[in-house]
Amino acid sequence: MADVCPSADKCPIFSGVLKGKEITSKNYRLQYCENGIVGRNNCKRWQCKNKFGKVPEQLLPNSKKTLEEIAAENNW
Ligand code: SF4
Repeated sequence: MADVCPSADKCPIFSGVLKGKEITSKNYRLQYCENGIVGRNNCKRWQCKNKFGKVPEQLLPNSKKTLEEIAAENNW
């Protein structure tokens, strides 16, 4: 069984928020959510959750923003 991200049950990316983009969602799941610790450590949503305890709803796993930029944008 795949090593799935512990945040998967509450994560909009994992649960398929990208309506009409099933292929993108599937690729995200394969690359990040179901790819063990290496996969989730590369996920910006996972990094954000670990650092701040919260994640902007719209943040994508492959966002190029730094955690500091994300925090500043959200007034954290
Ligand atoms: S790896 Fe990232 S996108 Fe996937 S479930 Fe975890 S936090 Fe969400």
